[in-house]
Amino acid sequence: MRFVNWSGALKLSILVLLAEVTGCLADPTTGAVGARRLQPISGTYVLETDGDAVLADTLLALRIARLPDNTGDTIVGAWDRVDTTSLDASSGVLLETRSGGSIHLEWAFGATQRIFEGVIQDDSIVGVFKVGARAYPAALLPVNLDSSLQRFESLTGWFDPGDRAVIVLRLDDTRDSDRALIGELKSRQLKADFAVITQRVGTPIFLTWREIAGLQRDGFGLVAHSRLHDPGLMDLGRYAWETVGAKNDLMAHGFDVRWFAIVGSWTGESYLDSVSKVHRARGRLLRQYFEGTLAWVYTVPQTVPVPESLAYGLSHINCDHFVVRDVMANIRIAIQRRGYLELSYHSYLADKSLLLPVWDSLALLRDQGLIVITSSAVGSHAAHDGAPALLAAGGGSLGSRTIALSEDVPGACRETTGTLDSAAIALGRGCTLRAELRRPPRGTAVALEATWSGDAGKDTLVLSLKDVMDGRRSTSRSCVARPSASYCTVRLGVGPVVGDVVAEAKRIGSGTGRALLTRAAVLIQ
Ligand SMILES: [Zn+2]
Repeated sequence: MRFVNWSGALKLSILVLLAEVTGCLADPTTGAVGARRLQPISGTYVLETDGDAVLADTLLALRIARLPDNTGDTIVGAWDRVDTTSLDASSGVLLETRSGGSIHLEWAFGATQRIFEGVIQDDSIVGVFKVGARAYPAALLPVNLDSSLQRFESLTGWFDPGDRAVIVLRLDDTRDSDRALIGELKSRQLKADFAVITQRVGTPIFLTWREIAGLQRDGFGLVAHSRLHDPGLMDLGRYAWETVGAKNDLMAHGFDVRWFAIVGSWTGESYLDSVSKVHRARGRLLRQYFEGTLAWVYTVPQTVPVPESLAYGLSHINCDHFVVRDVMANIRIAIQRRGYLELSYHSYLADKSLLLPVWDSLALLRDQGLIVITSSAVGSHAAHDGAPALLAAGGGSLGSRTIALSEDVPGACRETTGTLDSAAIALGRGCTLRAELRRPPRGTAVALEATWSGDAGKDTLVLSLKDVMDGRRSTSRSCVARPSASYCTVRLGVGPVVGDVVAEAKRIGSGTGRALLTRAAVLIQ
């Protein structure tokens, strides 16, 4: 976004919170939810209380360690301010006991005595929180605040959109109705982000973890979108459980997620729709754990006035019921300004007669080189800097700098060699072009894309990507030549273990004329 013009507070028609996170290494073994009923409790819990009035902007986190004698737990806790990163820096250490399924915690913070009493219910501890003479309903909710603080590789220098507008397509809530739209995306070769409600995955009417893994592997983006997505008010502790907890869940399943999308039906402080809210506790919490947050200014459903929505160079529109003319007007302004536009949909709400014409248009505009479709994570790092990090890793336009050739028979690559650095690379039959992208950043996808032409109906371009570290992570796409030049791409999500990705392009089929590649590149999206 460094290339867009910002103006005034209303630039946050999308609230994008970019923050440095301070790092701990991920520990995937502790990413899962906590103990079950009557199991030893362990890990970190946040305190949910009856509204923000009790603890205000303070997030209370308890780190629990079990004693070796098996008769009780020593429970060590500390007040954790959400704008600090250390759990142990503050006062309020406590020591308390557990007997059977019940727990009593007592500590002093400032001059006031605090007591929490509760019983273990599933993975939470439900009870009351007493401050002086007053008592409030409360619960301790498991959230791993440490493992989710991991720092990903920087995306700075990885993405230069050139003259094109940056468009992000997003499908929210990972409902099973997404299945039909995944087919529509794939048939148009469109990239999209999926906003995952982690603890609904695998339940009726939602996608399964296997399907989420398939989406990630196929190079779609993943955005955290709460654990339960229940509407309404919640206190800061519950908010931490919903947001950081969603990242815990995704990491526990092996997914690296950089962004969080605010739930549109949250209310009060949790519905981030103003600059002042962003600077308060919930905004700070998200900045600590995510590189960016997608939030809302407009109500849903909505009609975003075009002059407002893009006056700020950046926009986020819920398109479920947005007429084609208005969505297209926003897209055209984004193209004029070479801006960033995010279009979100809910597959169970969206009017498909409005959605599909827009998606057809996006495919066409992409083929014309007017837009580039990417993830929020990558799109937000768009800069007109020549993408030095991408080039240093072996990516960028296909040419003699990036490509090694191999031929099935001697001479098969002669014509390709001669044209490798021209505007159109000739694809010789039996000649494979091979590039290698070294250590692509986690939470992104690698893409090999090209515009190409060949003997219509006879020639086929085969693009493939393979993770060198994990042979199971590979993918390919075959594109049959059309009467005019057409777009062909293949994508592969970067796995949990970052390894190099090998990209290959070759021509097969019975065409006898020339086949030409233009605008061919290895990228991240
Ligand atoms: Zn949602």
